Amino acid sequence: METRVFEKETDGGTAIVVGGGISGASVCYALSKRKIKTILLESESSPAKQSSGNPIGVVYPFLTKHKTTESEFSYLAYRYFLEIWELLELGNKVPHSDGIHFLLETNSAYDRYSNAILSHQIPIDIAFLEKEKYSNLYSLFFPTGKAISPVALTMELLRLANPETKYNSRLLSWHTIDKDRNDEQDGKLICQTDTETLSANYLFLTQGYQFANDPTLQWIPMKQVRGQIVKIPGSICKNQSSILYGDYITAEINGERVLGASFDEFHLEKEPRIKETIMMWEGLQSHLKNVIVENQTLDVKNFGTRVSYRTQSQDRHPVVGKLPIVSQLDTTVKYQNLFRKNGKPFQIPYYESVGILNGLGSRGLTHALLAGEILVNQVLNKTMKFLDQKIEIPEHIIQSLKPDRFLLRMWKRDQLT
Ligand SMILES: Cc1cc2nc3c(=O)[nH]c(=O)nc-3n(C[C@H](O)[C@H](O)[C@H](O)COP(=O)(O)OP(=O)(O)OC[C@H]3O[C@@H](n4cnc5c(N)ncnc54)[C@H](O)[C@@H]3O)c2cc1C
Repeated sequence: METRVFEKETDGGTAIVVGGGISGASVCYALSKRKIKTILLESESSPAKQSSGNPIGVVYPFLTKHKTTESEFSYLAYRYFLEIWELLELGNKVPHSDGIHFLLETNSAYDRYSNAILSHQIPIDIAFLEKEKYSNLYSLFFPTGKAISPVALTMELLRLANPETKYNSRLLSWHTIDKDRNDEQDGKLICQTDTETLSANYLFLTQGYQFANDPTLQWIPMKQVRGQIVKIPGSICKNQSSILYGDYITAEINGERVLGASFDEFHLEKEPRIKETIMMWEGLQSHLKNVIVENQTLDVKNFGTRVSYRTQSQDRHPVVGKLPIVSQLDTTVKYQNLFRKNGKPFQIPYYESVGILNGLGSRGLTHALLAGEILVNQVLNKTMKFLDQKIEIPEHIIQSLKPDRFLLRMWKRDQLT
C-alpha cells in the first residue's frame, strides 16, 4: 500500500476532509478561503450521493416564537447562505426557484411565526406574512427562500474550493502522531483509507449517518433517520413557489418537483414504501387540493421515489466543533466532583486539529455553509473576516454547537463509563 505524506505547501498546512456531501463541501469552501491545501475523501464515486443527493431540497430557517439558540443559529445560517449565494453568484450554476410559503394552518402557528418575525427582528426582504393563494391560508413567506438542487450546490462549492478529490476512497481509521515520540510538527495526523495512508495537519469529519463507523465518534448521541421523497412531474402541480405544510411540495426545477418528506427513526430499510408515497400524495390533496392540475389520471404508485438518511443529534442541534478525546477522561471521577479535583479548573481534552460537522438533521442545506465556517475558524484557531462574512457569529452560538454539550451531559448522568 502506498504511503503519501503531504508536506506543508502553504503556510496553512494540509487538511483532509472526510465526506463529500454538503457538509464536506462547505468545509472545503471555508478552507479554500484560508488557502489551506485540502484533500477530500469520499467513499462513493462522486459527491452528494447520500443525504445530500435528493433532486430538490428547500432552504429556509427554523424559527421559534421567542429567540432560542437554535433559532438564532438557523436564522444567521440562512442569512449567511443568502450572502454566499449572492457573492458567488450561485444562482447562475445551481438550478433553483425562489420563494417559500410556510403555511400557518393553526392559530398557534400564526401566533408563533408572527411573533418570531418581531423577536428575531426579521426585515421584510427576508420574510413577511401573506396569504398563500392555493390554500387561501396565511403563510410566512420567504421571498428569497429557495428550492435548489443539493447535488448541484455541493458540486459547485467543490468546484470553487478545488480540493484534491479522492473518490471511491473510504476512511478506515485515523490517529494523531504522538508528539513526544517523533520530531514532526505537533498535530500531524495519519489517515488510513482502503487504498493508501495519508498524512495531514488537520482532519474534518463529515461522514453523515456513517459517523458510527468511526470509534472516536460513537459516543456522540446522533441517530440515523430514514426519509422518503416522491419525485413528481412538474406539470402535475401549479405552484410557482415551494409550499410547506408539515410536508412540502417544491417549485418545479428542470421539469420535476419533489413531494417530501417522511421521517422514521425506527425502521431504516432502503426500499421505498408505496404506502408512504400514497400517504404523502393524499396529504398534498387534503392540504393543497387546488395546487393539483385537474382532470388527470394518475397512478401515484408509478412516481419515482428516493430513500436517504438524515443524521440527527439528540437535541436536534448540529454538532460542530473540535473533537473531545473521551478516552483521556477519568470517568471514574464523578462529574459533580470534577471541579474540586486538584483544585484546578477542569479542561476538556481535545484532538486539537480534528473537527466534526454532523447532525444537520432536516436542515443541512440551510445550515452547512455557516457551520463549515464556524468549524474551520475553530480548528484553525483563527477568527478571520472575509468579504462574504458580514454577519457576526455570537460566542454563545458557537458554544452551543460544540460536541462538548453531550459529553458533559452524559458524564453528569454517569453514561460515559
Ligand atoms: C428525505 C430527506 C429530505 C431532506 N430535505 C431537506 C431539505 O429540503 N432542506 C434541507 O436543508 N435539508 C434537507 N434534508 C437534510 C439534508 O439533506 C442533510 O442535512 C444534508 O444533506 C447532510 O449532509 P452531510 O454532508 O452532512 O451528509 P451526507 O450528504 O450524507 O454526506 C456524507 C458523505 O460522507 C461519505 N462518507 C461516509 N463515511 C465515509 C468514509 N468513512 N470515508 C469517506 N467518505 C465517507 C458519504 O458517502 C457521504 O457522501 C433532507 C434529508 C432527507 C433524508
